[in-house]
Amino acid sequence: MAESSEANYDLWIGGKEVPSSAGERRTLLDPATNRPLASASAAGVDDARAAMEAAERAFRESPWAADDGARRARALTKLAALLEADSESFARLETRNMGKPLRESRGDVAYVVRTLEYFSGLADKVEGETIPVPGPRLDYTLREPLGVTVHIAPWNYPLLLSVRSIAPALAAGNAVVLKPASLTPLTAIAFARLAKTAGVPDGILNVVTGSGSTVGEALVGDARCRSVTFTGSGEAGARIAELAARRFLPVTLELGGKGPVIVFPDADLDRAVKGIGYGIFGNAGQMCWAASRLLVHESLRGPFLEKLSGIANGLKLGPGTQDGVEMGPLVSRDHLTHVMEYIDDARDGGATVVAGGSRATEAPLADGNFLRPTVLADLAPTARAGREEIFGPVLSVTSFAEPEEAIRAANDTPYGLLAAVWTRDLGTAHSVARRLESGMVVVNEAPTTYPQSPFSGVKASGVGFEQGRRAIETYSRAKNVLVNLGAPRKRG
Ligand code: NAP
Ligand code: MG
Repeated sequence: MAESSEANYDLWIGGKEVPSSAGERRTLLDPATNRPLASASAAGVDDARAAMEAAERAFRESPWAADDGARRARALTKLAALLEADSESFARLETRNMGKPLRESRGDVAYVVRTLEYFSGLADKVEGETIPVPGPRLDYTLREPLGVTVHIAPWNYPLLLSVRSIAPALAAGNAVVLKPASLTPLTAIAFARLAKTAGVPDGILNVVTGSGSTVGEALVGDARCRSVTFTGSGEAGARIAELAARRFLPVTLELGGKGPVIVFPDADLDRAVKGIGYGIFGNAGQMCWAASRLLVHESLRGPFLEKLSGIANGLKLGPGTQDGVEMGPLVSRDHLTHVMEYIDDARDGGATVVAGGSRATEAPLADGNFLRPTVLADLAPTARAGREEIFGPVLSVTSFAEPEEAIRAANDTPYGLLAAVWTRDLGTAHSVARRLESGMVVVNEAPTTYPQSPFSGVKASGVGFEQGRRAIETYSRAKNVLVNLGAPRKRG
């Protein structure tokens, strides 16, 4: 991937790059400087239609869905290898577009490689079953792809969250249309080019960049769409679920979170502080599963706050491309303003700002969207910062006396994505994990997942599962075939 080709990106439809039909473009800014970085085509409804048409034709005409899966396994394996070989340029492109430190983008690309490897291994194992039924009958299922699947991705892990859902969809034999977030479309388009080189047939993977409300809704509303996977805000997720319901489409929604972290008195303090620091300041807190609500036993409150502010004040802020930088800018100036509002509101309500709480305005950070890692304590019970998803590097700290109190507080949220428990007591760990209303629980660990583990939320955090074997079921369906074998034929 040549650096010089980074300036202008078009749509990727039917195996080639095409400009949007209306010729509209969006200028993308480097979040570390707010200077123009590149431009991307802004698709309209006609382009969405063209992508769905290309996908539907490829699904019908190419051998992608029809064969035994060995072709898909080979193409996805090759795609993983090509991406790995080009991982540094993908990581750089991600960092320049989205802002996160290179170290994190490298980790994201490695995760994408692993995801492709995992699902390539399942591509030739999409199997039906035989079911015992009475009489001279054979009952079996065929596991078939759905057809054209639509995937709408957010800006916080642009490539990772795109591939997390398109990899199983491709492995199961579908044709895919991906809409990346308007702010961060670059790595998705670069990935589509690579998929062609890897042998994914033209039209099987299409990328349409453009606004969610126009192009995203057009994709979901298209008669050829057979399923929708959406990662992003609850507001847009609800809109998509509504549109999908009108056409009885299956939906997978990965929405927000307000992740509780419970620290019991017997926890390994240093490990816990480190894990929580990563859980809220990693990716500048722009993570759906961020560890954003710390519930710490009252006996540990003092030392914990001290150690946490040490971590927050010690993180090196700067452009993600710069060596040694530990936290990059927020993705956009609008998002920075949005996050600052939560901090101001908490401060006005009497919260103590233990660390951070303001923009980093020293040169050369002043033009970028930098916010100091922030720790808030003594929040009013009604403070928005303690209850709503902030999606920034802002941790709210509360203490508890009894375990019951901590579990109640952890569950007292509309969300339920990831919860964390820190304790050395096995009994406490397992019993608390069972009682948390949450799709995922980590014990003595920062937020962590693997392509082979189910990723899901409950309550307002989402519907359905990503990752793991089950993802193949999400992107395929079982057709039941019942055959009456009749009476055995008489010889003669
Ligand atoms: P968003 O508006 O929901 O955007 C996510 C994606 O949906 C983007 O591609 C967006 O396009 C598109 N979109 C927006 N409105 C749409 C509509 N009416 N129809 C179809 N598509 C639509 O999210 P955001 O506010 O930019 O991102 C931050 C939020 O995402 C966070 O607050 C967090 O809750 C959530 N999130 C969750 C996860 C997870 O895994 N659970 C991961 C990341 C983010 P545009 O870019 O053009 O708006
Ligand atoms: Mg939005």
